[in-house]
Amino acid sequence: MATTTKTKVAAKTSRYNELRKMLEERRRELMTAVQHKMRDVRAEGGNDRDVLDQGESSEVDIQEDIEFALIQMKSETLNKIDAALRRLEEGTYGDCFECGDEISEARLRALPFAVRCKDCEEARETAEQRERMLAQKRGSSALFFDMSS
Ligand SMILES: [Zn+2]
Repeated sequence: MATTTKTKVAAKTSRYNELRKMLEERRRELMTAVQHKMRDVRAEGGNDRDVLDQGESSEVDIQEDIEFALIQMKSETLNKIDAALRRLEEGTYGDCFECGDEISEARLRALPFAVRCKDCEEARETAEQRERMLAQKRGSSALFFDMSS
């Protein structure tokens, strides 16, 4: 009995360490990417602005908008990683939202913010597909009901 408990605890700890390492690596990559991008945008912005005509300058604006959107996306991912790390500390990260089972490490590596295990996710997708098909079958009457409610 005692041995099984010990093995379980050891497995938990190694999973914790692996997931923590995975999240922290991602965090570091994102941080570096965001910092580089910020530096690029700052270095590019302003300097060339004076010599550009109207058309070129709006192209630069679009480029900058894209850069900023990318930075924003990465920052949001960073926030999610921070939240995941907090959940990992609390011991709730990586457990399936539906059935409570552990989500496999491979799945978490591919989708660090997955909240369901593969089985539950697939079951949900199937259910959603069925819903959509039913909705299509109901067709215009469903639309009528939706509008009247
Ligand atoms: Zn599940």
